[in-house]
Amino acid sequence: MIRKTRLFTPGPTPLLPAAQFAMAAADIHHRTVEFRALYQRVLDQLKEFVGTRQDVLLMACSGTGAMEASVSNLTSPGDRVLVLSAGKFGERWRDIAKAFGCQVDVVNAPYGETFLLDDVRNALKPDTRAVLMQATETSTGVRHDVEGVAELLKESKSGALLVVDAITGLGTTHLDVDGWGVDVIIGGSQKAVMIPPGLAYLSLSDRAWAAVETSKSPRYYFDLRKERKNAQKGESSYTPAVALVAALGASLDFIASQGGGDLAAGRKALVENAETCAAMTRAAVEALGLKLFAPESPAAAATAVYAPEGLDSGVIVKDLKTRFAAIVTNGQGEMKGKIFRIAHIGLFDYMDTIALIGALEQVAASTLKIPGFEFGKALAAAQNVYAERTGAKKPVAEGALAAR
Ligand SMILES: *Cc1c(COP(=O)(O)O)cnc(C)c1O
Repeated sequence: MIRKTRLFTPGPTPLLPAAQFAMAAADIHHRTVEFRALYQRVLDQLKEFVGTRQDVLLMACSGTGAMEASVSNLTSPGDRVLVLSAGKFGERWRDIAKAFGCQVDVVNAPYGETFLLDDVRNALKPDTRAVLMQATETSTGVRHDVEGVAELLKESKSGALLVVDAITGLGTTHLDVDGWGVDVIIGGSQKAVMIPPGLAYLSLSDRAWAAVETSKSPRYYFDLRKERKNAQKGESSYTPAVALVAALGASLDFIASQGGGDLAAGRKALVENAETCAAMTRAAVEALGLKLFAPESPAAAATAVYAPEGLDSGVIVKDLKTRFAAIVTNGQGEMKGKIFRIAHIGLFDYMDTIALIGALEQVAASTLKIPGFEFGKALAAAQNVYAERTGAKKPVAEGALAAR
């Protein structure tokens, strides 16, 4: 059969066609009235998408660039920071902070789990300057409790800034950035906003901006003070990724359209969409007899699934690709060969989700030796979740049929 390539990867994610057209048409110079208008509009839209009153800054780099910018702008060498780490991206926070000379304390949780708030409380020291965490740990498919950590910081009267890598959290989990007191929030273009890699965005609280003024770490390209000054004039400090900015505008228009023209409502709809895709997928893989890697605190960004005992997860990844052109990801680092990950972040819908589950049933039938396997079990489980979550008509219960 014909195979259409479909990405089920947690970044890059599938591209929004309207954003691709906007990119192709973006043949404009960046120091012009036209571009300034576009840039200003996109920055304003991003504020609503992120859900903050603060300025949102846009940079030409991958998400890690904004993570590095947070560390280099908010800390000085020797500052103590606390990293909450439960996977590869948590470890990235640790490594960046070390690279900039911070004293790094770490609260670790095992892969597939989230950390205990008590452990976080106990690890906070009077001189902890910042807490660095993920909203969702993409390498394990775990959601962390950003609100819980924010509350804990307030309660404990810690002066530490809360820096959240929400690169796969934005658009998949509800975040009240200003309300909770998140000091830095970071997003990336190749995730929920459905455009190619190459842009990162972030916003800072007033407290975080005050820290930027006192930081002694070196910075040049990632000097957020300079970037903010320019952004307020509708400019970027250096040549912006013009085509990606145009794409982002088209994509934020699309997200707004999902909320009847309102971006905040569109963001909520996007989160609900990811939640539904994720819940359908979790129910399906469990009905198949597979085990979830993160059953306790699953993220809607991606679902991580154990390969059956004795089988390399790479076989499932390869089978889905060669037979159905469905691209899912293997585990990263130590998790490679043990798990595979299916993404729900951004432009995934009911049809994509059902199709992937159908393909997974085919892989299960031929490759996975699952006792009692039958076609349709996983699909039925997903159908029921969809019906329950969306209020769609459910099948008539068997008892009701018999009574007729
Ligand atoms: C994708 C991702 C990043 C950023 O990775 P880049 O390759 O630099 O874009 C950071 N954190 C998380 C949780 C991610 O999923």
